[in-house]
Amino acid sequence: MKDVIIIGGGLAGLVNAICMARAGLDVLLIEKRQYPFHRVCGEYISNEVVPFLRAIDAYPSSFDPPQIQRLALSSVTGRRVEIPLDLGGFGISRYSLDHHLYEMGKKAGAIFRLNTTVDYVSYEGDHFQVRLAKGSEVLKSRIVVGAYGKRSKLDKMLNRSFVSERSPYLAVKYHIAYDIPDDLIALHNFDGGYCGVSRVEGNKVNLCYLSHRHQLKKHKHINTLEKEVLCKNPFLATIFNEADFLFEKPLVINEISFARKNAVENHILMTGDAAGLITPLCGNGMAMAIHSAKVLSDLVLRHFNGEISRRNLEQFYQKRWSQLFATRLLVGRKSQLLFGSGLASELAVFIMKNFRPLALAIIKNTHGKPF
Ligand SMILES: Cc1cc2nc3c(=O)[nH]c(=O)nc-3n(C[C@H](O)[C@H](O)[C@H](O)COP(=O)(O)OP(=O)(O)OC[C@H]3O[C@@H](n4cnc5c(N)ncnc54)[C@H](O)[C@@H]3O)c2cc1C
Repeated sequence: MKDVIIIGGGLAGLVNAICMARAGLDVLLIEKRQYPFHRVCGEYISNEVVPFLRAIDAYPSSFDPPQIQRLALSSVTGRRVEIPLDLGGFGISRYSLDHHLYEMGKKAGAIFRLNTTVDYVSYEGDHFQVRLAKGSEVLKSRIVVGAYGKRSKLDKMLNRSFVSERSPYLAVKYHIAYDIPDDLIALHNFDGGYCGVSRVEGNKVNLCYLSHRHQLKKHKHINTLEKEVLCKNPFLATIFNEADFLFEKPLVINEISFARKNAVENHILMTGDAAGLITPLCGNGMAMAIHSAKVLSDLVLRHFNGEISRRNLEQFYQKRWSQLFATRLLVGRKSQLLFGSGLASELAVFIMKNFRPLALAIIKNTHGKPF
């Protein structure tokens, strides 16, 4: 019997694995893919995570990540405004960051099963049974951490309410070679979505956009969508015309839901996107994944030290999760209404230009304090 099985090895799962294994727990992390690999993500991380990453010796300084301190916003027609970011962030690809944390997890003593998918979890008699897809192997643990991201078949198994609703969003990511300032993140609006552009390590630029599904349905192919819709924004037209695209084909995901979720389901402790996904325009999902992993691993350690019962662990975690993240998710959902349409994006640019304290307050409310 394992102490902890973590399902999913993104940022949330990896940080939980590092913290729990270092404290001496017997940790198994199950990840359906093999590191290193690319993920759809804007790859801008808020600086709120820096003190914690440094404290656990996980800040990826060897990659010399670009430091991002300014935000530019453009409307669908190309009206542009720029503001300084109070807190700022840094840019690093998930390819490098997740691999770096995976190596740290192994060193800490966590066991990894890669290329392995969990397809069923049950809780009975104070322990879990975790079934692996293909072969039906069943593993046992005292605690299960759900770190499997935005959406998984496990959500269906758990009957989580958001799985029955189709989400209208898809997302596309590239790495490109293009000349933009190191310290700038730009958010460019287009009809039905928005596109983030900012630097990551190694002189590369991340270009990642969220689009409404109806646009792809109408234009049928990603290429046509980009040409006919994204490139109506003059900034995006210049980038798409001038940049070198470094992937053979775009990375695409769909069914991205920003619906409310519970942080605990059938005794499974959810962390990162599995507990709630913030709208990408906030650039705070990765920080939330890392922060929720810190909070969760601290509580799990208290449970194994005999300080708190399973019941208290679940209650304290659910409460703390809501205190830290519920407002950010709400403000993120509301702010997204100002993106992805002509009029709304003009209004967003107008607010940022003429009501800067309001714009800064919105940004502040979608982020946390350094921890
Ligand atoms: C378009 C877009 C742009 C974004 N841009 C940014 C940004 O710039 N900055 C930011 O901070 N946040 C951004 N985010 C959010 C950020 O990507 C997520 O919040 C973050 O990746 C969450 O990490 P996680 O560990 O919870 O999940 P993930 O990183 O998704 O990891 C989940 C892992 O679980 C594995 N898995 C799933 N199911 C199973 C299973 N059944 N068995 C085993 N393994 C499983 C998956 O393979 C995956 O590796 C963006 C999100 C989107 C959609």
